[in-house]
Amino acid sequence: MPTLLPLWRKARRVSSAASRLPGTTSLRFALHGWQRLMNKQGTTVDTVEHLMAALFGCGVDNALVEVDGPEIPIMDGSAAPFATTIEGIGTRKQSVPRHAIWVQRPIEVREGDKFAILMPHPTPRITIAIDFPGTAVGAQTFSVELVNEAFRNDIARARTFGFTQQLNELRSRGLALGGSLNNAVLVDGERIVNEGGLRYDNEFVRHKVLDAFGDLALAGVPIFGHYYAYKPGHSLNHALMRQLFSDRSAWSYIAVDEFQQLFGEPIQAEQESEEVFLKQEDIRAC
Ligand SMILES: [Zn+2]
Repeated sequence: MPTLLPLWRKARRVSSAASRLPGTTSLRFALHGWQRLMNKQGTTVDTVEHLMAALFGCGVDNALVEVDGPEIPIMDGSAAPFATTIEGIGTRKQSVPRHAIWVQRPIEVREGDKFAILMPHPTPRITIAIDFPGTAVGAQTFSVELVNEAFRNDIARARTFGFTQQLNELRSRGLALGGSLNNAVLVDGERIVNEGGLRYDNEFVRHKVLDAFGDLALAGVPIFGHYYAYKPGHSLNHALMRQLFSDRSAWSYIAVDEFQQLFGEPIQAEQESEEVFLKQEDIRAC
């Protein structure tokens, strides 16, 4: 299937079958703060989401990625280094038509006060609201139509973030040892620890959009629909994908050319990326 996105973990002492990992939803796990892919032989690759977002954001839906280690490098905590490299190398148009998932009925998952919904929409749109009261993050909402240059301009540079307390706990358990101010935004209460500050005023919620886009990319093809979430994380996104694939009547598998004939070509953003200021009640009501 040409639209499948394979990830390949270099493992010199295992057979090629054991080292090949399809970058799709079938065998993947949402761990605490990242995505893990695992194949039937138990070979794993962690933290695939930023690379997946960069590939899909640059229009790549068929690639072979070689990884010499247990995880994708974190780089600067964003997708920008991957996107810059992909753009520098360029992409090749292939002869097989591209396909997409076209959402036709809403799909929804909830975990406590968190929720994620996929709704019918003629383009890939992501809207996310987050709330970290009493911190420099606070309440932020962002909505973006992921077409044209929007991923590159509005999302790719947003870095992952963490809190000093969280970091100390992880380090006491021997985790996040590679975490530093070079690959994350560190928040200490109301203060941003990084000397350079933020890349966007609302970099935190933009990074959540990046993560969600990377999680949705594990569907293997672009999703034409509106992803709308409150306080999402990888496990909520994973649950949403499972729900989507368990309800085959909620979506169609459609050639992108055919879709564009239905909705007009080229796909243009309905509106510019925007900060939207919704009250929590408004979001819940949607
Ligand atoms: Zn992330």
